[in-house]
Amino acid sequence: MSVSPLVGPADGVAGRLVAAEPGRLAVDDLVTGDPGAGWVEPVGMDGATAMVRLATSAVTADAAVTWVLESVLTQVAGAGARRLVLETDDGERQRVLGGGPALKLGVEVIPVPVVAVTNSLGRRSERLVTLVPGQVGIYSCGPTVYSYQHLGNMRPYVFVDTLKRFLAWRGLDVRHVINITDVGHLLADADQGEDKVEEASVREGRSVAEITGYYSEVYWDDLRSLNVGSPDGWPHASAYVPQMINFAQVLEDRGYGYRLDQGLYFDTARLPDYGELAGIDTTTQRETGRVEMVEGKRAKADFALWRTFTDGRDRLMQWSSPWGVGAPGWHLECSVMSISLLGDHFDIHTGGIDHRDLHHVNEIAQSEAYLGDGRRWVRYWLHNEFLNLKGAKMAKSAGAIMRLADLTDLGVHPLAYRYLLLGSQYSSQLEFAEAGALAAHQALRRLVARVAEATNGPGPALGGPLTLTGALEAAAALGSSELTARLLALDAALADDLQTPQALALVSTWFKGLDDLGAAEWRVLVAAVDTLLGLRLADLRPADFVAPLPDSIDPAWVQDRLSEREAARAARDFEQADRMRQELADAGIRVEDTPDGTHWYTARPGS
Ligand code: AMP
Ligand code: ZN
Repeated sequence: MSVSPLVGPADGVAGRLVAAEPGRLAVDDLVTGDPGAGWVEPVGMDGATAMVRLATSAVTADAAVTWVLESVLTQVAGAGARRLVLETDDGERQRVLGGGPALKLGVEVIPVPVVAVTNSLGRRSERLVTLVPGQVGIYSCGPTVYSYQHLGNMRPYVFVDTLKRFLAWRGLDVRHVINITDVGHLLADADQGEDKVEEASVREGRSVAEITGYYSEVYWDDLRSLNVGSPDGWPHASAYVPQMINFAQVLEDRGYGYRLDQGLYFDTARLPDYGELAGIDTTTQRETGRVEMVEGKRAKADFALWRTFTDGRDRLMQWSSPWGVGAPGWHLECSVMSISLLGDHFDIHTGGIDHRDLHHVNEIAQSEAYLGDGRRWVRYWLHNEFLNLKGAKMAKSAGAIMRLADLTDLGVHPLAYRYLLLGSQYSSQLEFAEAGALAAHQALRRLVARVAEATNGPGPALGGPLTLTGALEAAAALGSSELTARLLALDAALADDLQTPQALALVSTWFKGLDDLGAAEWRVLVAAVDTLLGLRLADLRPADFVAPLPDSIDPAWVQDRLSEREAARAARDFEQADRMRQELADAGIRVEDTPDGTHWYTARPGS
């Protein structure tokens, strides 16, 4: 999408807009009486489809809203646009007030909802407004690579990948970082004790580099199988220890750290709003969940910035520091690496809900103390809920875990797991069951078969990720109001705090009937769905869903039954055909007839 300066403080009506910061214009506060009440942010143009972000709901004067809209319309019309996508918090008024001028200028106004996210900071739904117009910086807490990641560990990354897909679709330039914790993560999130990576190295008789290298590779393979896009950076904690020491030193110099034998501790009493993210009342209580007492700690919530080793034992992972030989506290890495790679302040920080009340509280405390600029460090904190197993968080410590490889061994396609995850909104808990994964596998297979059928026809091919404006432009080129309506419905579902279950429900409803759109329209719709949900509907084939046979079943036996069934069907002997289908079903094999042939699948009883 080419970004053009669609809206500027030009003459006439545009005189009501004043430059607030690069890329964002404020509605003149002489008009609104309230600085910051309204603003305009041009996004860009795709062919004859322009997009602008607008905030006018806090502007009380209708006349001011009209001026702003007229200014925007005049300029997009001048730039050759025939459609204006308005991301607005004021849809109704924009539509009513925009009717006249839009008609006059021949520009169709398409209001779309704001991007709403549930911010853990304040526990409310908020419009996403980025620090730098047109750009969004996201940091996600990454895995500790001392063993395999389980299915629950995959949920945060499928969630953030889906979020990134939606933000890019809305025309934002996404910059994303996920860290790799290869040092500093102790048992039970404690401040003192043994490092998990070091323990694994001793246990498995492999070097630290071998351990972290191996488990990182498996994790990355799993992400690729789930069609999770790579972030822009994968920083390793062990590569940032000097920066972490420097960061801790700054905190000590500013009086935020105090020394104990066990290391340098952060003095949480120095921050009046410590614990805000967790909802801790700091005036009456200074406690978070998993903190242990360390001799000399001033408050229970104080946490280690540096852990000094006092037992004289030589460790694989230890560094010299002003506080003695030791290792960084485990919260430090995320503050240091996110600030290094995304700048002092960035837009969104994500992680599992278990990180909200301790790890993220402490990240915020040390970062705001370090920056000392009186600003909020990160504006939006988004947390995914747990994937549960038998009612409790799937966790290594609980013993019962399942990996993506365990699912694929059952014959479940990895993207069926993505489909399963998308079936729940990220901030609600999701109970995992094998039967659910098998059902997701079948649902995705059916969808893939329908997509292959629907998109097979004349018209231009379409590839690559789409943007909202690009998709609407394609729909306009096809003259399809039904396609436009579907694109907008999909967009609206995801704009509402990523309601992926609603998006999936729309998709499955649409693919029940295939006659209402032409192949070229289906291709645009499928490209949009793939862009947003990452299910690769356009690339997959029903044959990709044939599961491997268990050892107990001879493939030749299956083939014989299938041939016999075919022959019986051809002879219209449906009783015999059903007998063959039943024999296969008894062996755990399902047969399904699709337009591109008969397929069979292994399925566990009850699935
Ligand atoms: P860890 O290596 O334990 O820090 O986990 C990596 C990420 O997975 C973190 O964001 C955790 O919050 C998240 N996580 C761990 N277990 C689960 C689970 N059962 N469901 C969802 N997210 C989880
Ligand atoms: Zn973190």
